[in-house]
Amino acid sequence: MEGPISNECFDVINPANGEVVSKAAAGHEGDTQEAIEASYAAFQDWAATPATKRAEILIRIYQLMLERQKELAQTISLEMGKPLKQAMGEVKNAADYVLWNAEEGKRIYGKTMQASEENKRLKVIQQPVGPVGAITPWNFPLAMVTRKLSPALAAGCTVVLKPAEQTPGSAVQFFKLAEEAGIPKGVLNLVTGNPAKIGDALLSDKRIRKIAFTGSTAVGKHLLKNAAEQVKRVSMELGGHAPLIVFEDADLEQAVTNILRAKFFNSGQTCISPNRIYVQESVKEEFLTLFKEKVEGLKVGNGLEDDVDLGPVVNKAGLEKAIEHVEDAVRNGANLIYGGNECKVTGCENGYFYSPTILSDVDEAMLISHQETFGPVASIFTFDDELEVVNKANNTDYGLAAYIFTQNLSRSVRVSEGLEYGMVGINDTVLAQVQGPFGGMKESGMGREGGPDGLADFLETKFISTII
Ligand code: NAD
Repeated sequence: MEGPISNECFDVINPANGEVVSKAAAGHEGDTQEAIEASYAAFQDWAATPATKRAEILIRIYQLMLERQKELAQTISLEMGKPLKQAMGEVKNAADYVLWNAEEGKRIYGKTMQASEENKRLKVIQQPVGPVGAITPWNFPLAMVTRKLSPALAAGCTVVLKPAEQTPGSAVQFFKLAEEAGIPKGVLNLVTGNPAKIGDALLSDKRIRKIAFTGSTAVGKHLLKNAAEQVKRVSMELGGHAPLIVFEDADLEQAVTNILRAKFFNSGQTCISPNRIYVQESVKEEFLTLFKEKVEGLKVGNGLEDDVDLGPVVNKAGLEKAIEHVEDAVRNGANLIYGGNECKVTGCENGYFYSPTILSDVDEAMLISHQETFGPVASIFTFDDELEVVNKANNTDYGLAAYIFTQNLSRSVRVSEGLEYGMVGINDTVLAQVQGPFGGMKESGMGREGGPDGLADFLETKFISTII
């Protein structure tokens, strides 16, 4: 691995205590151009490498990730605060994407068609799209990397990756182990540093044929506009504002257990976190009692300590957003059922901790009902009937994930089909599955990651017509 041209570095900060974890290379346009050059030079050979050979290297990467699971998880936890147990789970999930795509890459098929003339032969082949620019966020710093890089590599693409500036460490470790696994020089290229400069260099270079992005809708729109200049292909995994609907016929214990995990996992910093929890009026009191009981049992602390359920949020801005959303809701009539304050954690006085929080009687006028909080705040709305709640759930520019809890089969079919979301969980909140297409509708993005669709997003379709 080489350092940045400028020799400049920036500090990576542990959000649990404000200490500097490490220094990362402050890359700029020049570094990005070098990386693009390398990815372009390596592309033809990698694209021509048999899929079975590419799979062997990917499987070796998968094995090394599992061997180094704890090391990788510790870096994730240090850089963005996630409890170690959750970080271990992220590494396993990230590795599973690599294995799945290694296998799926062997099954890239073409087609033949019946021509209208006797002397014609028609076929379709699938080819790698070309060198890819990948840009990833801090909230799942390793899983978001492998969700892009493993299908790209399996398809025969080369990559220039720009990870989030808050969390470069696990990406650096991943690149080292990919090198150890035998990935040829130039196939994977990493540039950490200035987001806008690296992003612009990737967008403006014609050799980069696709941008694969996960992050906020605001940055996604900026990238989309600029990608249009060269009609570059894009896949966009953007923000969300997930509704979760608890009907009166739900198994409330099951609903509460799932919501607890989905809402407070990663301190609420997930794009599919339930941001609006709609509970049918007739079961509201029972639901709140059960939910509060469980939330009271959650432990906030330094993610590297045992038994911690919630680590800090990623930075000061993240903490301020949670505070702002809760204050606004309470000022406008919401009931603070639990939490609602910054948390002091002994030994971590400079950390960004916010207590798990429950608000009830939330309504559409409040900030929290239409902005992504990205913090550990559960907002409870109520509703009376099915049609009303589906309309409310769809009343947003986002369309990433939605959830429903019901024991009524017909209702589960009706409502899941009526929700304008890329993913719907029925009595389930775990949607990031290697086999499944993860992604959103509306302003939550385009394209899918995971499953056969995730691999297809790195392939071009070519039609070949031959006169014999
Ligand atoms: P962000 O958009 O601020 O940053 C994401 C990435 O974009 C980072 O690497 C950042 O450095 C880079 N970036 C920022 N400005 C850029 C620019 N001008 N040009 C090029 N790159 C630029 O988002 P974030 O705060 O890191 O992540 C949180 C957001 O990501 C939330 O909105 C969340 O919902 C979303 N997210 C979506 C998914 C999904 O699959 N849909 C998954 C995880 C996170």
